[in-house]
Amino acid sequence: MSENTKPTALIMIFGATGDLAKRKLFPSLYQLYTKNKLQNFAVIGIARRPLTTEQFQENVKDSVMTFANVDYRIEAFISHFHYHCHDVTSSQSYIELKQLASQINNQYKLKGNCIFYLAMAPEFFGTITNQLKTQGLTNVEGYKRLVIEKPFGTNFETAKALNEQIRTVFQEEEIYRIDHYLGKEMVQNIAVIRFSNALFEPLWNNRYISNIQITSSETLGVEERGRYYENSGALRDMVQNHMMQMVALLAMEPPISLTPEEIRSEKVRLLRSLRPMSQEEVNTYFVRGQYAQGIIHGETVPAYREEANVSIDSNTETYVAGKLMIDNFRWFGVPFYIQTGKRMDRKSTKIVVQFKDMPMNLYYQAEHKLTPNLLVIHIQPKEGITLLLNVKKSGTTTETKSVRLQLANEGTDYINTPEAYEKLLLDSMRGDATNFTHWDEVALSWKFIDTISEVWKKTNDESFPNYPAGSPGPSAADALLAHDGHIWWPIEKIEQEDQEN
Ligand code: NAD
Repeated sequence: MSENTKPTALIMIFGATGDLAKRKLFPSLYQLYTKNKLQNFAVIGIARRPLTTEQFQENVKDSVMTFANVDYRIEAFISHFHYHCHDVTSSQSYIELKQLASQINNQYKLKGNCIFYLAMAPEFFGTITNQLKTQGLTNVEGYKRLVIEKPFGTNFETAKALNEQIRTVFQEEEIYRIDHYLGKEMVQNIAVIRFSNALFEPLWNNRYISNIQITSSETLGVEERGRYYENSGALRDMVQNHMMQMVALLAMEPPISLTPEEIRSEKVRLLRSLRPMSQEEVNTYFVRGQYAQGIIHGETVPAYREEANVSIDSNTETYVAGKLMIDNFRWFGVPFYIQTGKRMDRKSTKIVVQFKDMPMNLYYQAEHKLTPNLLVIHIQPKEGITLLLNVKKSGTTTETKSVRLQLANEGTDYINTPEAYEKLLLDSMRGDATNFTHWDEVALSWKFIDTISEVWKKTNDESFPNYPAGSPGPSAADALLAHDGHIWWPIEKIEQEDQEN
């Protein structure tokens, strides 16, 4: 389906009274609707709570008003929503759902196209898909697609079992595994920056790049997700999916075309070239942290171990930093550093590409070392790119100063920047799987991550908690880079100082 074709589909949202539906799915569908991106659509909201369709429509309206803050054509929009009170384990529930789906399909002329969106805890995925098949909901005239949320398993074995279960009902090309980072404008822009600029691609290798740093930090703690987080931690919540996907996009070879198959095959090849670690090497390549009490935006916030549903001697990491090495011709010897954590000093997702130093520095002075060229890709909350270059300081003979070339940073129109979910929903309806993860990618990243989690599960980190809330993370993360002669680039600080000068 081409980019401009408007899709037609029935979307069944399992978990329609949940947080994800409320905060992301309804507002994103609303955006698609008001931007006229949909031909025909209807939604069946499915959840345990007994609600009438009218009550459900009011909930959808509230969520749109809260998160999109507009009411343009809202009544027409919510009229597309229907509700089905459902118990995921009861066959009778699916029989009733099938009747409702068939009626709505005819009413809205939806061509028998059906998206099953599972916005529910993963332990239900197997049961739901199995019932969908047994009760005949997957016998549709048009397409059938399954959209599923993370986490996809908790390690390679559980992910494999889950995948096998789902694959008895849906083909791989019918499965859309959401990684909402892949829906973000600037993440999609990584490939464009690399493959459409003669300035960068020739330099994109170990001859010119010293190291690459990917940071995804947030100031929030675990909020009310303590129970989930205790079993997940930052490694499985963030690294296995979002961080590894960003590494793959940054490091993959140029695909021969932009089809989902070609891009995916390059990402898979890249993930296969990750240097494997032995269990003994894990703590040399990876660092974990857990936040202590600290101050965020002027307010004292509790330690992770004091959060609701968290054990008082929890060994769960709320921060991970790591060094990934890619053993192929392009990247041999170039560290890819990643870090992600909760309750850090700022909310920021960015990539810093540090180019190698000049072979000889004509401008070096004891007190003034030449800054390396840095390419910064800002993903959130800012979007854009910055290039740090050196120029001559005016009035002096040999002194240099660094300047920033900023592209689209301040120019980005945030209001018009589509939500990741908006893009991903539209892609799934159009049948474009480029920005979803294929099973091969999921499998390879779990295998890489499993070595780390096995070691960390066996050994408590006696230093926990090892960073105060509101700080840049544990000192061990600085030591990880210092060992290689590098630092985490304090981009925001550099930018602020620059603005003040
Ligand atoms: P939630 O707990 O807020 O909502 C769960 C939904 O499932 C509710 O609608 C509930 O009624 C329904 N449900 C639970 N048991 C049921 C049963 N037996 N029968 C029928 N319905 C049942 O969860 P959430 O935060 O919306 O997350 C849903 C999924 O999305 C999870 O897998 C989560 O990991 C994932 N996810 C959520 C977010 C987010 O921002 N909330 C982000 C990324 C991924």
